[in-house]
Amino acid sequence: MDEEREQYVIAPPRVVAIPVEGGGLFPVRRVFCVGRNYAEHTREMGGDPGREPPFFFMKPADALLSRGADMPYPPATRELHHEMELVAAIGTGGADISQSEAPTHVWGYAAGLDMTRRDLQGAAKKEGKPWDMGKGFDFSAPIGMLIASARIGHPSRGRIALRVNGALRQEADLAQMIWSIPEMIAQLSALVRLAAGDLIFTGTPAGVAAVARGDRLDGEIEGVGSVRTKIV
Ligand code: MN
Repeated sequence: MDEEREQYVIAPPRVVAIPVEGGGLFPVRRVFCVGRNYAEHTREMGGDPGREPPFFFMKPADALLSRGADMPYPPATRELHHEMELVAAIGTGGADISQSEAPTHVWGYAAGLDMTRRDLQGAAKKEGKPWDMGKGFDFSAPIGMLIASARIGHPSRGRIALRVNGALRQEADLAQMIWSIPEMIAQLSALVRLAAGDLIFTGTPAGVAAVARGDRLDGEIEGVGSVRTKIV
């Protein structure tokens, strides 16, 4: 390992890690996100909430922002939207994971925000181009403390809500997800081999809207935890 390190011609990137409730750090490998997983949000985005297979996109791990840190307003947008989401953290990887085995692969859960440059995403959609610059920009994934599934089990219901400057913006129940977490893990692991350290943002309920510099975002998921940031 040390020999290998001596061969790097630039400093290797740091390991991105998120704090765990009760102590410790969870090292992150990849960040997957699911699109349109609540019917009301699918409708507000102009889609048809049928039960089509879930689709996935990604953010780089170093887009994560933890410990309640401020989020710098990103460049190249006039429409930064919040998307409040439950995040599942993979502790044991695998390919072609069955729905029944999926929970055993989840180390824990957190509350997270899939921040989105909606104007760039909208333009990309229109032109059939990738979403990456609308979704995977710097600081685009604020996340709260991770809590072990050994402590809380595997949430399939419970209130998920986001307040901006104290006003309720998003509110739903995890039971309203179109695709459950085991279903998502089965579908995603049929596309790529999941690995320890992967995160899955599981989609947002209705109520997405723009935020501005100075806004305080406070998200909560019943039985899981909270996420907060201030746009600066
Ligand atoms: Mn999302």
